[in-house]
Amino acid sequence: MRYKDRQQLGDEWQTLLQRTSTPARQAVAALVETHQESFATHFYQVMLDDTTASLFLSNDQVKQRLNPSMQRWLGAMFSVEHDDFEALVEQQEKIGQVHARIDIPVNLVLNGARQLKLAFYRQINRDMDAAMRGDASVYVSDHIDMAMEIMSHAYSVANDRNARTEEAYRLFSLTQSVGDERERQRSALLNWENTLMYAVAAQQSADSLPPLASSEFGLWYLHKACHAFEGAPEITTINQRIEQIDNQWLDKLHSAESASRLKALSDIRDATRSILLLLDNMLERASGLEAGRDSLTSLLNRKFLPVVLNREIEMGRRANKRFALLMVDIDHFKAFNDNHGHDAGDSVLQQVASLLDAATRGGDYVFRMGGEEFLLVLVDTDPEGSRLFAERLRRTIAHEPMLVAGDTLLNVTISVGVTLHDGHPDYQRSLQRADQALYQAKHNGRNCVVVQ
Ligand code: GH3
Ligand code: MG
Ligand code: MG
Repeated sequence: MRYKDRQQLGDEWQTLLQRTSTPARQAVAALVETHQESFATHFYQVMLDDTTASLFLSNDQVKQRLNPSMQRWLGAMFSVEHDDFEALVEQQEKIGQVHARIDIPVNLVLNGARQLKLAFYRQINRDMDAAMRGDASVYVSDHIDMAMEIMSHAYSVANDRNARTEEAYRLFSLTQSVGDERERQRSALLNWENTLMYAVAAQQSADSLPPLASSEFGLWYLHKACHAFEGAPEITTINQRIEQIDNQWLDKLHSAESASRLKALSDIRDATRSILLLLDNMLERASGLEAGRDSLTSLLNRKFLPVVLNREIEMGRRANKRFALLMVDIDHFKAFNDNHGHDAGDSVLQQVASLLDAATRGGDYVFRMGGEEFLLVLVDTDPEGSRLFAERLRRTIAHEPMLVAGDTLLNVTISVGVTLHDGHPDYQRSLQRADQALYQAKHNGRNCVVVQ
């Protein structure tokens, strides 16, 4: 079922608003203006008492920012007039996405909403005329519920996506090498085909023929591959082939007419070949970009960044350790490509990637973010340690001649933006800081390190 789009939600919200008289809305807006700080403080205090919630809220950065941003949210929610309801909807979606990114349990968010309503009701009873209280309370409650509905939807969409990426990452790290998996599954499929041919030759009865879906290959495919490669164009076709084999052609193998039996056999053979081909394509791509390793450099693909960072944030929280983010970008790479050709550029990317990889410890991560930009996650480090590491890395790259086309040796340089994750549950802010530091390093003339 498709969820309502932004415009529908905006219209619904507008209808809600119009149900309340302007004086009641004005009274609530005035109430928010006077008490927003105490509402936010009440919310924060109650939530800190909850041990799970306090995990997310006790960080200093959150402490400083949550109160003002909640006040801004209240102000925006309860202004007397709204001229852009879709923007209001979008704002709630963004909040839901942040909740998903930092993995806040949804019951905590709902509890927070309840606490806020409580603070509102108390103040409404204290400050407002008896005649206005009912309308004002319904208005506040409806508005908060509307925001919660939108947030929860955005939350669940983002959360599903996170779960799928996590699963893909798990599969990817479990199988270690997609190449091995491919060989294993190829032979499982061919094995099934052999067994089938043997059974047909031995004229076994129809119900003893092995359905593909429950074969070793079928089980792997349906339980793991479909899930891990969800969205891949090959999936639908492979599903159709498996269904055709199991539901149409297997039965025909027992047809009385030999022409029809032969036709079924050759259909099954073709379908098996086509599955093999599609599977190869899918795994081939998966062994590159899709599965987690970037095909040119063999570094981690950025799609696993959320999984890795969330796990490191969680581990850091438990062990009170910090990690650093190093955003690395090759200097003047466009000019390098222009002067020496794209192949030479590719080769330099591979050499830089392997130097980055060699420089890191076993627990660190190196991602190719795209183009000639890389992100290093240095675990268990401190400001001085990460600065020294970045500086050493910069020097190594600058001094290491890169082999380009046969026997030409050339030097490239990198700029590095470094930041220490501050313990905030949302990694996005640290990524932005690392980006800003990199930008500053470029601005300072390149081939340098900036810590922010
Ligand atoms: P700056 O010092 O500011 O980083 O300059 P720059 O030229 O490196 O930066 P910019 O981001 O403008 O250019 C990046 C270039 O990297 C653009 C593109 O030609 C090149 N590039 C991106 N991906 C690849 C790739 O996979 N292979 C090769 N050979 N070049 C790539
Ligand atoms: Mg560059
Ligand atoms: Mg760049």
